[in-house]
Amino acid sequence: MARRFSIVGNLIVFGIVALGAWLVWTNAFRTAAPPSAPVGALVDAAEKVGFDPARQAPRAGEISVRDLQVGPRGLAVPVDRVHPRQLSDTYTQSRGGGARVHNAIDIMAERGRPVVAAAPGIVEKLFYSQGGGGITVYVRSPDRRWMYYYAHLDAYAPGLREGQRVERGTALGTVGISGNANPSGPHLHFAINRMDPREKWYQGEPVNPYPLLAGNRASR
Ligand SMILES: [Zn+2]
Repeated sequence: MARRFSIVGNLIVFGIVALGAWLVWTNAFRTAAPPSAPVGALVDAAEKVGFDPARQAPRAGEISVRDLQVGPRGLAVPVDRVHPRQLSDTYTQSRGGGARVHNAIDIMAERGRPVVAAAPGIVEKLFYSQGGGGITVYVRSPDRRWMYYYAHLDAYAPGLREGQRVERGTALGTVGISGNANPSGPHLHFAINRMDPREKWYQGEPVNPYPLLAGNRASR
């Protein structure tokens, strides 16, 4: 009788263990699908492990924008107190030892300088990429046809959140060296992508922000 009872007990324990293993197994498969077709190296393991940049990043103090500079096409230079004449066109430069094209411009400024929205839109994604753009913001135009991408931030503006409406000049964060930026050269990496309205935040076709910010004058 006692022997029979322990066999039943063992079967129950075995059943519980098997059920637990099955749940872990199926769950692992359910969460293993990464976003497809990422922009370069911007999408990495950070998202899979649930890294939350809004929680991890140091908080900026109050960010006060002092001197917003608006270029000839109506876009604001996305770093406070940088004039369109100070920009240089690094859009076609190679990066990663020739492995890829920059497809963006770098706006040099000291760490902590306010980063502002170049144009109005909705914050679509706050993304952290340790080996790429670091602390980043994706702002999409209200008609969903343009994506403005701000990378290597030091910190987000306090309270910045996905779904938030921003205006031209709204503070998004501060200039930094997060991600793969050279620590000795803090800057804002700024890109503009032309989007199909149905495309996701990491898709789109890059366009050169330089002439949009500075006019059509060529520069190196
Ligand atoms: Zn860059």
